[in-house]
Amino acid sequence: MALTAARLDRIVASPTVAMRMAANRLRAEGRDVLNVASGEPDFPTPPHIRDAAHAAIEAGETRYTETGGTLALRQAVAAKFRRDQGLDYTPEEIIVSTGGKQVIFNALLATLDDGDEVIIPTPCWVSYPDMVKLAGGTPVLPACGGNAGFLLSPEHLEAAITPRTRWLILNNPSNPTGAAYDAPALRALADVLARHPQVWVLTDDIYEKLIYDGFPLASMAQAAPELRARTVTMNGCSKSYAMTGWRIGFAGAPRPMIQAMEKLQSQSTSNPSSIGQAAARAALEGPQDCVEAMRLAFAARRDFVVPMLNAAPGLRCTTPRGTFYVFPDLRGCLGRVSAGGTRIETDGDFCAALLGEEGVATVAGSAFLAPGHFRLSFAAAEDALRDACGRIQRFCAGLR
Ligand code: GLU
Repeated sequence: MALTAARLDRIVASPTVAMRMAANRLRAEGRDVLNVASGEPDFPTPPHIRDAAHAAIEAGETRYTETGGTLALRQAVAAKFRRDQGLDYTPEEIIVSTGGKQVIFNALLATLDDGDEVIIPTPCWVSYPDMVKLAGGTPVLPACGGNAGFLLSPEHLEAAITPRTRWLILNNPSNPTGAAYDAPALRALADVLARHPQVWVLTDDIYEKLIYDGFPLASMAQAAPELRARTVTMNGCSKSYAMTGWRIGFAGAPRPMIQAMEKLQSQSTSNPSSIGQAAARAALEGPQDCVEAMRLAFAARRDFVVPMLNAAPGLRCTTPRGTFYVFPDLRGCLGRVSAGGTRIETDGDFCAALLGEEGVATVAGSAFLAPGHFRLSFAAAEDALRDACGRIQRFCAGLR
């Protein structure tokens, strides 16, 4: 008898997590490896946030809290939604979970029946389709290529909707492409959804603060208030406040949806860490200049990473509007042989040879359902990033 359930055969282990662990393992073995695979800020969590966590421990905030987060934190999240996106959620319409991942997992597992469909524009973050499959749903994956700016068009959306569609997942700005939707683009999608009242929107806004060149980012419930009643607005502390390890994600949604997510969470993790919640509250309520300082640092890195990658023979890299990822097209490198003698037939071959020959860890585009690309995270230290881009140039120049 097989050890694992059939449901586990439907998914793969997270490729982004696997690549981060592989890079760490090689480093521990003493290999000279540059990790530009991981989607996490290299900055330490700002001091006032760390202090709040220490204070919470000393004050004895070390017990269970309400399942969906303390009232104080849910109030802070409600204030954040109002301040940053003009969205009105009461604390009862907020849930706090163990990272953004648990928020999404809760929403899908709480609502999908077998065979229900979820529209996920691709390229997409690695975990959305597999979370849908674990919940018994079927991912529907419209391809939104570079020519369309990696954005879902209203026509694509209309064509993907069926009577079984339960959700549209939008990641804005998007991991791995950095593409972003402004209010008119969201409005056009909302006009399609108006004809399909069974479809909910899950908007993953986790990279909201990492947006460049003054792009007027919007969120669905903001651009289309009539959809608020069927939208889950998800966000978290990981990317904006360099708090990936604290595992605090949150969402605003109509109360019945929040109740369903809480019910599920009460049978899995219960509340997220009480210490993490105290830190998150300090992050949301404290000074916000740390967020802007990190954003400016990411913007400066983006501005040298994109030209360096475009100077590598065979690569084409567009400039992301947000996030800390670039997603170069590497099809110009396929069918060739690397200096180390590897035949590069796929994006997976490219990334494996780049790691093996140059010690640069990236993530293959196939993991994001976009073969022929790779993802590089510029949330790494500037020196390491310049070094990594130089090695990529050398690797590409060595292809014959
Ligand atoms: N979201 C980040 C990434 O794409 C963190 C790893 C993960 O959970 O996927 O790299």
